[in-house]
Amino acid sequence: AKETKENSFEFFTPEMEENSYKNFALQNDLRRAITNNEFELYYQPKVSASTEKVVGVEALIRWNHPTLGMVSPGHFIPIAEDTGLIVPIGEWVFDAVCKQVKRWENTGFPPLVVSLNFSAIQMLQKGLVTKVKNLLEKNQVEGHWIEVEMTESLILEHDNDILNKLEGLKQLGIHIAIDDFGTGYSSLSYLKKYKFNTIKLDKSFINDIHTSADNQAIITFIIQLSNQLNMKVVAEGVEIKEQHDILQKLNCDELQGFYFSRPKPVKEFEELLLNQQQL
Ligand code: C2E
Ligand code: CA
Ligand code: CA
Ligand code: CA
Repeated sequence: AKETKENSFEFFTPEMEENSYKNFALQNDLRRAITNNEFELYYQPKVSASTEKVVGVEALIRWNHPTLGMVSPGHFIPIAEDTGLIVPIGEWVFDAVCKQVKRWENTGFPPLVVSLNFSAIQMLQKGLVTKVKNLLEKNQVEGHWIEVEMTESLILEHDNDILNKLEGLKQLGIHIAIDDFGTGYSSLSYLKKYKFNTIKLDKSFINDIHTSADNQAIITFIIQLSNQLNMKVVAEGVEIKEQHDILQKLNCDELQGFYFSRPKPVKEFEELLLNQQQL
């Protein structure tokens, strides 16, 4: 945070005022984005470290704004969270993922578990599990084709309510992944309270894994811990061969990042899968 003097009232800088104005305008646009069909899912493959085959995929939301063009989720998800719009948006994402799973099933694509992201506000809403159950039933999709990624801060902050919901999702067959693992909390005790399927190593550990012995030690430890606890480990943000090689050597289960593929529109992702099958 910026250093402030007690007697200075410079909280709203002109820049911030402009920003909050922009965000306000964006809020209104966001309200209409679902009905205007402006959202789209991009897909980024997860690759098995041992076979180098695509074994999973993460769905990431994109907003095609009518005048601003592509607005990144890093920008609009926080606004959606502040306004509660994340609830209908999250529902749209879940429904869209179910429809995609079904389409792939119907067209004979190799079956893949599709991951999607949940934010705290979504997990805190009443009736979440029932809503998810209804979406699965409506689309005739089995829960085990879907993995929900959420950050550890979420899991810790709202203990019992969240644990009950995790249990409810598990009953539906849905897999649960801890996203951005290692960035939030120093205590690992929450790993005892619920059996997660997957841990996603945060990009920040992967960035300089090839130059930092410390980061390598941390990742080695997390991989061992995950093996002991029967969790799968996915590394995100793998960009270069050096990172890939080290993670492979350390027996990380799955790798995801620009080294293999950026998130792509569904057609391009399908082409990537088909090309792989021909290898
Ligand atoms: P995340 O879940 O941690 O997703 C990973 C982000 O890293 C994605 O950014 C992805 O495009 C990017 N990425 C993947 N590989 C690489 C790489 O090799 N290098 C680098 N530098 N970046 C890489 P994206 O798509 O902009 O999403 C940003 C964040 O927005 C996500 O972080 C997630 O927290 C949130 N988000 C995205 N889609 C959704 C959604 O449908 N619902 C919710 N609630 N949040 C979402
Ligand atoms: Ca994620
Ligand atoms: Ca992540
Ligand atoms: Ca992240």
